[in-house]
Amino acid sequence: MEVGFYTSKREYLEKKNEFQRAIENVLENGIQTLGKEVKELEKAVEEFSGAKHAIGVASGTDALVIASDIMGFKDGKEVITSPFTFLASTSCIAKHGGKPVFVDIDEETFNIDTTKIEERVTKNTVGILPIHLFCQMANMDHIMEYAKKYNLYVLEDAAEAFGMKWKGNGESYRTAGTIGDMGIYSFFPTKTLGGYGDGGMITTNNDELAELTKIYRVHGAKQKYHYDYIGYNSRLDTMQASILLVKMKYISEAIEKREVINNWYRDRLKDIEYIKLPKIKGDQKPVYYVFNILCEKRDELNKYLKENGIGTSIYYPIPLHLQKCFSYLGYKEGDFPVAEKACKEVLALPIYPEITEDEVEYVCKKIREFYQK
Ligand SMILES: *Cc1c(COP(=O)(O)O)cnc(C)c1O
Repeated sequence: MEVGFYTSKREYLEKKNEFQRAIENVLENGIQTLGKEVKELEKAVEEFSGAKHAIGVASGTDALVIASDIMGFKDGKEVITSPFTFLASTSCIAKHGGKPVFVDIDEETFNIDTTKIEERVTKNTVGILPIHLFCQMANMDHIMEYAKKYNLYVLEDAAEAFGMKWKGNGESYRTAGTIGDMGIYSFFPTKTLGGYGDGGMITTNNDELAELTKIYRVHGAKQKYHYDYIGYNSRLDTMQASILLVKMKYISEAIEKREVINNWYRDRLKDIEYIKLPKIKGDQKPVYYVFNILCEKRDELNKYLKENGIGTSIYYPIPLHLQKCFSYLGYKEGDFPVAEKACKEVLALPIYPEITEDEVEYVCKKIREFYQK
């Protein structure tokens, strides 16, 4: 049996007619940048997330760079974040000369250890950039409390967190990307809401930040050819938006399906003593974008699964503070032991709405087999 880490082909076959109609409509309407499908998708994401504004851009990475630029994460200012993430969560700070200040992660959630944020705040700190990784959100109660106390901006990297919700000690659940000053989503193909290419979105409840975002995504011009800022060319593509609109119709179903698959894995893996399953912390509603386990002999297990036709992924093999591109920040091995240890033990198993129970069964059987050898 072959179990791919991800494939879009099953979804395409299921919704072939809808995807084709969506694309044909774009072609028939004639070439448009920021066409009507982009506006419709922005509206759909606003409704789904509860964000006052959702603004489509070219990728999650661009969304982070643009939001960082607008909020002044630059010119030597410090932003507190975690080193256990995808490059883009930190490069957006460094890109315009801001200084990423790392703190370690929580052992169980892989998200920023919010109890360590306050000790890193200095008079140069301007923001906190939490990343909601894999299946759950960082502790937004703590983050918003520090932001208020020290007057900091919060940019939520919700690239992986589409549909996750945080209640914490609050009165109601709020969606990832709508709690801080700005949030971002990625529509990279594997993401919970993934396109057939690149795309991203910036969310905010602040009218002024929304206005600036719309200006920045088209070269910094409020009026064509009148440049108030040095902006970007970062539009969400109309064709991608048309595909994403089809997928938005089924997003709740897709999220529920991920939950079911998560349970298939949990039931079959819970008694294997060599692995740890994801644990949800705080009052929140997870979305199983990634099913990540911590395991003994990770590299051998990974090799064994690959030999048996099973696709896996390692998020993330090297923490950002040990990456060559950030060596100028002066961090060294041992600075963030929890993140460093996670990099050696994490393994992501295949999870996407169309995977079957038989396939999950096969993956789990092979994991069990490996530890019984
Ligand atoms: C995917 C991802 C991004 C980048 O999104 P792209 O759309 O691929 O540019 C940023 N941060 C995190 C945590 C991600 O997982």
